[in-house]
Amino acid sequence: MAPSHTMAGGESGDSYSQHSTYQRALLEATKEKIDEAITTKLDLYFTSNSFSFNVADFGCSTGPNTFVAVQNIIDAVGHKFQEQTLENPKDVEFQVFFNDHSNNDFNTLFRTLPPTRSYFATAVPGSFFGRVLPKDCLHVGHCSYSLHWLSRVPRGITARDSPAWNKDIHCTGFTKEVADAYLDQFKVDFGGFLSARAQEFVSGGLLMLLGSCLPDGVKMSETMKGILFDCIGSSLNDVAKQGLIDQEKLDSFNMPIYVAQVGEIKDVIEENGCFELEAFEKVSHANDEFPLDAKFLATLHKVTFGGLFESQFGKDAVEKAMGCFEGKVQDSLQELANAKAGMQFFVLLRRK
Ligand code: SAH
Repeated sequence: MAPSHTMAGGESGDSYSQHSTYQRALLEATKEKIDEAITTKLDLYFTSNSFSFNVADFGCSTGPNTFVAVQNIIDAVGHKFQEQTLENPKDVEFQVFFNDHSNNDFNTLFRTLPPTRSYFATAVPGSFFGRVLPKDCLHVGHCSYSLHWLSRVPRGITARDSPAWNKDIHCTGFTKEVADAYLDQFKVDFGGFLSARAQEFVSGGLLMLLGSCLPDGVKMSETMKGILFDCIGSSLNDVAKQGLIDQEKLDSFNMPIYVAQVGEIKDVIEENGCFELEAFEKVSHANDEFPLDAKFLATLHKVTFGGLFESQFGKDAVEKAMGCFEGKVQDSLQELANAKAGMQFFVLLRRK
């Protein structure tokens, strides 16, 4: 099984929980869309006076963003329940399933659960590319900023003698063989995610996917995200030149990350066939693109990808590389300002 890389745990200055406002802005910007989706597309079935409702967040990390996401959903469902039944939403029993890799820092998640929450909280550890919940139990699922993580580095791209060998650390979009290998892996993984969810959802259940993608035809390295990954690659190379990272190892290193294009995401949903695509919307939010602040960007990338790099190259080398990275970002501010726009999306799927 491929190793899993989680976000930096805990609540200290170097943690994901303290440095995820960029991701949180998307949740805030989609609150109305989530409200509307639940109001107009969700069927509530009542079997008795006490009604239980199951919500899951896939790739929840340590909080607090996941708490914002599930609260948005619960508020909207409670509101709909009240409108439909004229009953108090307190009669609904909400159960929330928090999913992430088993080595995610669930202790921080549970320690920081909102004290005023109106739901029961459960962790469902394990990769979301497989089943993590029983059949036919899920009413609303949510997944934000997680589906660009692949289950593994695509086949063929790490071997020097392969036509798909990738000397860069990510899918820049400029080499066809590499791009094809990444896309194939994305299709397998995202398709597997949808098939697993299809079994867990009740018919009519809603799945909301949020994150970053690329407009059709735009290459990763033409966007801010890609330029920043290129800066990390070049920083790791500088550290390798100083002898702190084995060059061979770096040359065969690839990030298990793929930022898909709009059409690629839609194709997988259609091919999978288990969900109706109700909406695919571009979301504008305060941080549509990254702020041009080298320190902010260095910290964001460290808490998000530091664990992945450290597992390969060790803590000291990565500390050093991230220091170089900040300098390179500072030098690239003009290029970043001129980059092609990426895209933040909100996708609404309804289980057939
Ligand atoms: N949803 C949160 C966290 C996003 S970070 C937010 O919007 O802020 C991405 C999360 O996805 C990480 O916690 C990572 O561990 C998780 N993740 C990545 N691949 C996963 C997989 N296969 N199964 C479960 N969780 C995964």
